[in-house]
Amino acid sequence: MPDAENVLIIGSGPAGLTAAIYAARANLKPLLVEGIQPGGQLTITTEVENYPGFAVGIMGPDLMIEMRKQAERFGTRFIQGNVVQVELSKRPFRITLEEGAFSTRTLIISSGASAKLLNIPSEKKLMGHGVSACATCDGFFFKEKKVLVVGGGDTALEEANFLTKFASEVKIIHRRETLRGSKIMQDRAKNNPKISFIWNSQIEKILGEETGKVSGVLLKHIRNNTLHEEACDGVFIAIGHEPNTSLFKGQLELNESGYIITRQGTKTSIPGVFAAGDVQDFVYKQAVTAAGTGCMAAIDAERFLESESH
Ligand code: NDP
Repeated sequence: MPDAENVLIIGSGPAGLTAAIYAARANLKPLLVEGIQPGGQLTITTEVENYPGFAVGIMGPDLMIEMRKQAERFGTRFIQGNVVQVELSKRPFRITLEEGAFSTRTLIISSGASAKLLNIPSEKKLMGHGVSACATCDGFFFKEKKVLVVGGGDTALEEANFLTKFASEVKIIHRRETLRGSKIMQDRAKNNPKISFIWNSQIEKILGEETGKVSGVLLKHIRNNTLHEEACDGVFIAIGHEPNTSLFKGQLELNESGYIITRQGTKTSIPGVFAAGDVQDFVYKQAVTAAGTGCMAAIDAERFLESESH
């Protein structure tokens, strides 16, 4: 195996790319593994209105292209691929991809989070046939159709608003009667004439398995347990995210929801391994906070390498 890398970064969202910009500018020649969704979650979003520096907003994919170019400009090396195994019990750490393995003196984990699903059998069977977890990716297919959005947070509200560009009617299904999303997003959804709400309800089953195409859902009212069928052409699941940490189970300290625990900045339970972005942040989960912790992880890795060299 070739010499150990100084810094290997897993993940190419705002956290990973910011870590790469800082590590590259510190002359550490970072190696970044892009993962299965290069650019991360912002590549499946539309307009980003709250990233500082863009007064009129910027499209998520464009923001990620700019960040990647910036990381490349200072000498970051990119690898397309997916990490399948990490060995953190001894140094240098060993990182195995589908094609080949690397050893590295420090590791920055910024593998992000993925959309949560309802975990009911009909959802799995109809995924891609009217069920989706990404309005930006699939909204276009629902022109003049009726769609449902599940969830009560900012993601659900944002997806519902976005879907009104295509759909004739959007209903938000929420398991409570108060929304979790921010006031501005709530107002936007409530003032949108195409959006209405079904409160205190959850999906028991998505209908349409016989035809292979969504035709509606079976809803259960949570308070009185009554069942009700709601016809629709599409179901968008927007109930939050879970961290991509299965590779690290049993090796790094994780919290009860599976997020990597960090202390004193971005330090994990293993010296030399740092974590940044949504993989360790279950509170803020913003692009700008991910970028901020990516910067911190690169500085922490640089200081760790410097302390080792004395
Ligand atoms: P949240 O965790 O905030 O919300 C998830 C929602 O889904 C909650 O309303 C929750 O219900 C509901 N839910 C969870 N599990 C289930 C289930 N099994 N069945 C039915 N409903 C379920 O996640 P989001 O992805 O919406 O937002 C995450 C973070 O990202 C937040 O901090 C948010 O502000 C931010 N964000 C910001 C945006 C922006 O500013 N433009 C856009 C998108 C996200 P309950 O409320 O009952 O728990």
